[in-house]
Amino acid sequence: MDPVTLNIVVPCFNEQAALPETARRLRERLVELAKEGLISANSGVVFVDDGSRDETWSIIERLARESGDCSGIKLARNVGHQNALLAGLLSTPGEVLISIDADLQDDLGAMRQMLLAHREGADIVYGVRAGRTVDTTFKRLSAQGYYRLLRALGVNVVFNHADYRLMSRQAIEALREFGEVNLFLRGIIPLLGLATRTVTYDRHPRLAGESKYPLRKMLALALEGITSFSVAPLRWITLTGILLALSSLLVGLWALFVRVFTDRYLPGWASVVVPMSFFSGIQLFSLGLLGEYLGKVYLETKHRPRFIIERKTNAPAGINGEGALTAGGTIERPS
Ligand code: UDP
Ligand code: MG
Repeated sequence: MDPVTLNIVVPCFNEQAALPETARRLRERLVELAKEGLISANSGVVFVDDGSRDETWSIIERLARESGDCSGIKLARNVGHQNALLAGLLSTPGEVLISIDADLQDDLGAMRQMLLAHREGADIVYGVRAGRTVDTTFKRLSAQGYYRLLRALGVNVVFNHADYRLMSRQAIEALREFGEVNLFLRGIIPLLGLATRTVTYDRHPRLAGESKYPLRKMLALALEGITSFSVAPLRWITLTGILLALSSLLVGLWALFVRVFTDRYLPGWASVVVPMSFFSGIQLFSLGLLGEYLGKVYLETKHRPRFIIERKTNAPAGINGEGALTAGGTIERPS
């Protein structure tokens, strides 16, 4: 099979510490993959600057100037990892795209297996973490509990898969059809269908800098995953309502029984105050949850653009400029 044109899409938010090394390793990997005949010489790396406040964009511009296989997209403001990734995926050409985080926690070696799986016909190849030994216990347990919860709610997600994945052109075009504003790619991609494979790899520690996913963003993403894909919580409310109504009926019957057949007094205000506060708690909770869905409907009906591209560098020109693969398997600049 012919080598495919691969573009690696990398969302970057304040990644000045990791970027130069990340770029170096990614380009090294491209050269290796090209030598193996898996990708063509006009493959490249596209960095999406998600409104960084540090030197990220100037580093990207420099990389794009210096090497023909690097290019960049600068978003007008910080829109979050998921939207930045989508911006990169939907505006990058190439037969095959692989998305990966800028900190290279995900093993670059897995790209080879991803490309091989694509050769064998897969349109989507998920990178799945074999171990999470480098994550904190809290992150590991919360992530795993979360995947379980999503599964239990009927959301189809791939266990231990972050956003390290290969997508064919066809998969990207299918993704384009999804117009949602509340974006949780890990939930949307399985909805595309198409031929799917997984490859496993070990997760490394962050290359440099700090995590750009504080607890606040992690919780927001977690809530997004649940409320964007499942209406099960709404059904739970209905169910709870029915159960509560039934049990209060039983309590009423019991009170009647006590009044008619015994001479014990009713215990006083507790029987009034306790259920009252309990029910108002339930009501507030239900209202809050309903509001969550209403908020989504509201945002979706606006059809706002999900990202705005401020500017781009030159288009990717391939490894080492307009490199061409020679018979010996090395990349050379055309003279
Ligand atoms: N990121 C982004 N926008 C944000 C936050 C993060 O583009 O608002 C990028 C970040 O630069 C990195 C990726 O998303 O490439 C994953 O973030 P990070 O590695 O900090 O998350 P963690 O691995 O700690 O969950
Ligand atoms: Mg990371």
